[in-house]
Amino acid sequence: MPELPEVEFCRRAITGWMSGRQIVTVDVLDPRVVREARTDRPSAGSDSAARRMQHIATSRSGELMRHGKRLLWRFERGALLLHLGMTGRWTRGASRFAKVVLTLDNGDHLTFHDPRILGGVVPFDDFEAASAALKEGLGPDALRDPLPPLVGKRAIKLVLMDQTVVAGIGNVQAMEALWRAGIHPSRAAQSLSSREHERLAAAVLVQLHATLDLLGPGDEITYVEEPGGPNPFPLYQRDGEPCPTCGTTLATFRQGGRGTWWCPGCQPSDTGRK
Ligand SMILES: [Zn+2]
Repeated sequence: MPELPEVEFCRRAITGWMSGRQIVTVDVLDPRVVREARTDRPSAGSDSAARRMQHIATSRSGELMRHGKRLLWRFERGALLLHLGMTGRWTRGASRFAKVVLTLDNGDHLTFHDPRILGGVVPFDDFEAASAALKEGLGPDALRDPLPPLVGKRAIKLVLMDQTVVAGIGNVQAMEALWRAGIHPSRAAQSLSSREHERLAAAVLVQLHATLDLLGPGDEITYVEEPGGPNPFPLYQRDGEPCPTCGTTLATFRQGGRGTWWCPGCQPSDTGRK
């Protein structure tokens, strides 16, 4: 599912496709994805929200912003909050899962696909309200802002994935960053020394930039965790393989309902703190 790098990839792709262009037609093929309010759960869209989206999106297009995994697309008549959910993506061209098709003034199409309909679009007439919704309930952005203090007894990996603490990091980015930092994913967040926190902050940035580099400058994307999806990551789903850094056999366990991969050599459980 998309995490910060995939959403940032989407932001850059749409920005590139739109440069100097206007949207002339908005076809909402499935009104379930255009909603009155932001939600992280499946919820019904509405025809009136779809009409408002058409009104807003056909006005002059402005900047596309990102905070964590959310996008905000500014227009002269308001803004659209874009949320990819688990399987949403924006592409050029058609698909049988197309939910919304935007036609540009050069005839190009931008299409929102979402087989599971957890992502979508929320139209805002008022830009201030839209800006507030972009950050509502989210911690600082994992790519742009300093990593905040990570406190409490919860496992450090789960705290990193808590969007109210830091926005944008999901399962894959969290485990890979912890491996880069040499910190066991089950360590209590509050047990990290200030030096480990610094190391983790640096590792998060290296990890996010490394994933952005892997995604490349193109405009098509397949998410990891999708069947048949690519796996360019050194740790994710590689239990039984040697750690690329130290050669120790990589291991896996369940954590918060999700798989965690780790290196027993690089990530000692609660000893070897430096
Ligand atoms: Zn290792």
